[in-house]
Amino acid sequence: MRIGHGYDAHRFAAGRALVLGGVHIDHPLGLAAHSDGDVIVHAVCDALLGAAGLGDIGRHFPDSSPEFAGVDSRVLLRRVVALLEGQGLALGNLDVTVVAQAPRLAPHVHAMRDHLAADLHADPARVNVKATTTEGMGFTGRAEGIAVHAVALLVEP
Ligand SMILES: [Zn+2]
Repeated sequence: MRIGHGYDAHRFAAGRALVLGGVHIDHPLGLAAHSDGDVIVHAVCDALLGAAGLGDIGRHFPDSSPEFAGVDSRVLLRRVVALLEGQGLALGNLDVTVVAQAPRLAPHVHAMRDHLAADLHADPARVNVKATTTEGMGFTGRAEGIAVHAVALLVEP
């Protein structure tokens, strides 16, 4: 089995939709990014690529490429999953921690989990998404942005 860790953070920006784990969330601010800014999916991609020894998301999908401007990040995740499957790797389990002062994410974590599991061709029971705050401390606490940690275990089925 192989383990990987992913971390990503994006800054809030006006005039953008907030998409987290493929869920469109009603919030006055979205996340600034070349893509749709889905910081959860980005951290998950990095955890998966890390576990497979395949570098990182920026190497596979450079933010200088017009191909990825405004892209649905789940498209990138599905490409990462195809790479893993090409190497004979499948998900053991995935654990995601979202650090956000606002908005409240608890009502959305099940939908996020289901999206991630679908893209990963995995049973939802193998995917966990949880949200926490930093009790007002740091950049996430000041609601300047959202950070995500992801840990993925890959197995050769
Ligand atoms: Zn990102």
